[in-house]
Parts: sequence; C-alpha cells; structure tokens
Amino acid sequence: MVKKFFRIFATINYQLSTVKVLLQSILDFLLPRYCPVCKKRLQVEEKALCRNCLSDLPRTRQWLAPRNGNGVGEKIFYEGPFAKLFWTHLPELTKAIAFLNFRPKSEVADIIYDSKYRNMKHTAVELGRIAAEEILPSGFFDDIDALAPVPLSKSRFRERGYNQSERIAHGISIATGIPVKTEYVMRSIFKTSQTTLNKIDRSDNVRGAFCLGVEAADMRGKHILIVDDVVTTGATTAACAKVVLQIPDTKVSVFALGHTSH
Ligand SMILES: [Zn+2]
Repeated sequence: MVKKFFRIFATINYQLSTVKVLLQSILDFLLPRYCPVCKKRLQVEEKALCRNCLSDLPRTRQWLAPRNGNGVGEKIFYEGPFAKLFWTHLPELTKAIAFLNFRPKSEVADIIYDSKYRNMKHTAVELGRIAAEEILPSGFFDDIDALAPVPLSKSRFRERGYNQSERIAHGISIATGIPVKTEYVMRSIFKTSQTTLNKIDRSDNVRGAFCLGVEAADMRGKHILIVDDVVTTGATTAACAKVVLQIPDTKVSVFALGHTSH
C-alpha cells in the first residue's frame, strides 16, 4: 500500500516537472527572457543569467582556502581582504565573506544594483542561492542561526518596491535552510542627508541609521549573518551588525553578494 502510494507520488512528481518545463517553454516563447549582462535570450534551464555570464562572474574565491582542521578556512573568513574592511568598524565580527569582486563602475555590479531591470527581484534570489551553494562546502554557514538582511530606508524601498538584500537572503535560505529574519534589525529615520556630511560625520550618521526590530530579543544566544547586496566601505553594514550586538550573547558575521574595491 505504502509502496503503491510512493509509486503514484513519484509518477505525479515526474509529470509535474515535465509540465513545469513545458510551461516554462511556452512562457519563454510568449515572453522571452534575456540575460541582463549579455542581452542574449535565456534558455529554458537558465534562470537568472545565461550559462556563460554565470561562469564568468568575478568570484572572490575567498571560500576556496583549504580547510585542514586547524581552522585555516575560518582564518580566511576573518583575515581575507573583505573581512579586513571591518577591522576598524567592527572588531567584534566573527567572519565575513563576499561572493563577487566588483571594480568601480563594473557592468555586473550596476545590473545587480540597478532597480530598473525588471527581473532583478528574481535574479537577486537566484544569485543568493548560487552563492550559498558554492560557499556551502567551505563550512562558512555551518554555525549561522539566522539571516538578517540589511533593511532599506523607507524612501529607497518606495523607489524600488523590494529590498535587494532581503531577496539575496531568501536565495541563501533556499540553499542552506537557515531562516530569514526581517524583524531583528530595522531602519531608524535619517535626520540628515548623507551627501551633505563629511566623512567622519557620515559614519556617525550611519551609526544611528539602524535600531533593534520587534523580534530582536529572539537573537539572544544566536549567531546572526548580516546579508548585504553590494558593499564598498563597509560602514553601513557594520552599523547594522552593531545593532545585533546590543542583545547579549550574540555573535555577528557578514555576507555580501559583491564587494566593490577601489
Ligand atoms: Zn549572458
């Protein structure tokens, strides 16, 4: 009886996946999808970017350091070029990693960051998933309890309609099973515009940009991974991470989809 049920279930499942591929083919015919980087038409099995652009993504490869039982891999997560960004802003940081390395004005960075590309909502989820799947064997996600995306200011949210970092976090969650928590850290209201401030004032301003969210107490005893889209100086990401440390017995780490180096 049970065997029969599983056989029927397997058949239905197989038929459903065939139907899914068929539906995607029809959809692709009616509404063609294009790779946002090279503008070539996407194949049915290609999700966010085409196969070539996906393999050409400028990966930092920081997670490929060998793990020899002496914590060498973990050392890279604290001493790598991306982690070093946080040494002054956030000495309490446990580890940090960036998936991609962007040069300033990089085309791929623009595409990921620019809200005018209509498919970016799905692309961000897909890139988060791909990043997590590639980084997973390094053990980076092993001791992480929750993913906290950097919250967007209200005006940016209104302009874009969704939070890019939150979409990336959902992609990571699909690959790792770690839950996404959007109520741990929230945005406080900006009093002064960033552009009118000098560098020192600006980091003070960023410091007050985030506050504890309604579920913040739930962070106690947990290791929280702050998820960001594109990081340049790390000041904003660090300010967000510092809020987590206001709750006792928490550990905080950082993941960024991209790091723009100067
Ligand atoms: Zn392409």
